Amino acid sequence: MKTYVLASQNKHKANEIKQILGEDFNIITMDEAGLENFKIIEDGKTFEENASKKASQVFEKLGIPTIADDSGLCVEYLGGRPGIYTARFAGENATDEMNINKLLSELEGVEFEKRRAEFVCAIALIERSLADIKIFKGICPGYIITERRGNSGFGYDPVFYYPEYKATLAEIGDNIKNKISHRYKALKNFSEYLKMS
Ligand code: IMP
Repeated sequence: MKTYVLASQNKHKANEIKQILGEDFNIITMDEAGLENFKIIEDGKTFEENASKKASQVFEKLGIPTIADDSGLCVEYLGGRPGIYTARFAGENATDEMNINKLLSELEGVEFEKRRAEFVCAIALIERSLADIKIFKGICPGYIITERRGNSGFGYDPVFYYPEYKATLAEIGDNIKNKISHRYKALKNFSEYLKMS
């Protein structure tokens, strides 16, 4: 079984990625690879660029196959914001609660149909060389509702409504989320690529 280091400090993401990829992949975190305090610089202009930068910085340090995820929320009414600034929407050290509050206040009074949004995920893979980076993308469409619902998942999940299940991603639970999410779709493309290569 091949080992990949995941260039992320986000434990929720790491758990989701491990759960989605299952037993065929050995995914280790940066901590497990001995990079406890390594600060990844994330100054790209797109999800793809940020994922590539994260993977490159960790691959440069460790030299073992690396994957990195960059993801975020694009809201149609806000012209695609917060986009690559999703994690810091309410400021540099914003918590999920602060970010959701800002999002709900920017959408105050906006009718449901105009609250269309999508989660976007870009996964970067470096197997052997910095010169050879592969990108896999996934998108999960939905709507931002006006109040939080549900307790599972992380980040913006409590306000992200998925019409097919008439529930937010925090209500449908991890098992279903991990079969429909932007991250699932990007990782599916990733694992299909590996099967063919
Ligand atoms: P990143 O860690 O720099 O990629 O930032 C991702 C941002 O998007 C964080 O604020 C996350 O909370 C949010 N985010 C990404 N994926 C999800 C998800 O599956 N559910 C809820 N929020 C997410």
